[in-house]
Amino acid sequence: MLSEMLADDPAVTHIAVVHCETTTGILNDIESVGRVAKSCGKKFIVDAMSSFGGISLYMDDLDIDFLISSANKCIEGVPGFAFVIAKRAELAECGGRARSLSLDLYSQWKTMEEHRGKWRFTSPTHVVVAFAEAMRELKEEGGVVARNMRYTANRDMLIRGMEELGFRALLPDELRSPVITSFLYPEGVGFDFTDFYESLKRDGYVIYPGKLSERNTFRIGNIGDIREEQITGLLAAVERYVKRLENEAPSLCA
Ligand SMILES: *Cc1c(COP(=O)(O)O)cnc(C)c1O
Repeated sequence: MLSEMLADDPAVTHIAVVHCETTTGILNDIESVGRVAKSCGKKFIVDAMSSFGGISLYMDDLDIDFLISSANKCIEGVPGFAFVIAKRAELAECGGRARSLSLDLYSQWKTMEEHRGKWRFTSPTHVVVAFAEAMRELKEEGGVVARNMRYTANRDMLIRGMEELGFRALLPDELRSPVITSFLYPEGVGFDFTDFYESLKRDGYVIYPGKLSERNTFRIGNIGDIREEQITGLLAAVERYVKRLENEAPSLCA
């Protein structure tokens, strides 16, 4: 069993897991991973980059030692800093361990503690102001639960609409994250990703290419101040591309 293998291996000191894995769009079961990590006495690190603020999680319940996220994902701030939520006792043990000058979490924390919130290097002032505003808007929306409901409703509407246009999501429902979805290339219709991408972009929508080695996929993300009308608009743009493909299909076959 995994927990026995881990318990027997002192070389493994920490277990890290990505919560919302954006390559595929999988929402990993951090609760189970955390339970295994803790049952064999390992430190537990969660990459919550694209889940924190958009998916409820409880640090205490999950006994997370370090959680990492950033200003520009589900909190809906602008890019510019990442942050770590950590157990003080664990962080206190990290002094002198950093292998780079700037990526030194302990020193950053110390500086902030000792100088009333001062940043170690030049403060990203505009980003901090935007973050404070984003936090205010998150609260105004009804907090993480309300935001999760909006993201989930948008994702569901997106998948339903894409399926009606002949696309299929890569993952089964129970594995899907609410913030990014991988779709398979449709088969036998002359689909070309670059062409598809450029067509959507001309209509004002930017999507992501896939990154999987085994399957041909593309991804559509829906983090951000996105509402029903943006999903409707995107689906209309996808439909225009599909219609064009259908009209061109005879000449492709000729
Ligand atoms: C977005 C993301 C990153 C990178 O975040 P940046 O804000 O671009 O630094 C890393 N991991 C995951 C899981 C992400 O979703």
